[in-house]
Amino acid sequence: MNKEEKLQKLVDISREKGLKLTPQRMAIFRILSESDKHLTADEVYQKARKDYPMLSAATVYRNMEQMVSSGLLSNLGRSGAAMKYDTNLEEHHHFICSHCGKVYDVYLSKVTYELDMEKSRLGDAKIDVSELYLYGVCEDCLNNYG
Ligand SMILES: [Zn+2]
Ligand SMILES: [Zn+2]
Repeated sequence: MNKEEKLQKLVDISREKGLKLTPQRMAIFRILSESDKHLTADEVYQKARKDYPMLSAATVYRNMEQMVSSGLLSNLGRSGAAMKYDTNLEEHHHFICSHCGKVYDVYLSKVTYELDMEKSRLGDAKIDVSELYLYGVCEDCLNNYG
């Protein structure tokens, strides 16, 4: 998907979900669709601020949380200050470079797991998402630092 298609998709889903296309939200959409990275809310805020100096960090954070609840974005790791947001809504997993910290989308053709209920002690817990993180050194880092 190129960035126009990505932007259009975000706009389409917003319409479907009845989210208003405010200028702030459009600014966030534009930033997300122009980036192929997984961005933190703060990175989005820093970029948005250049065009919208009046925009507050709280507005950006709140908008991004609304996008997550509406299914426009997903978040990686699901907690913590450095939580990254992901515009890739296809089912996928992540490769994280332990050298530069960059996050790459990876597609695994088959993932199965079986919980050891005895050791896990989750009781009747309900699992919603199973995510897999692969760690290693990315191609760029391998080429640059050998
Ligand atoms: Zn790297
Ligand atoms: Zn991703």
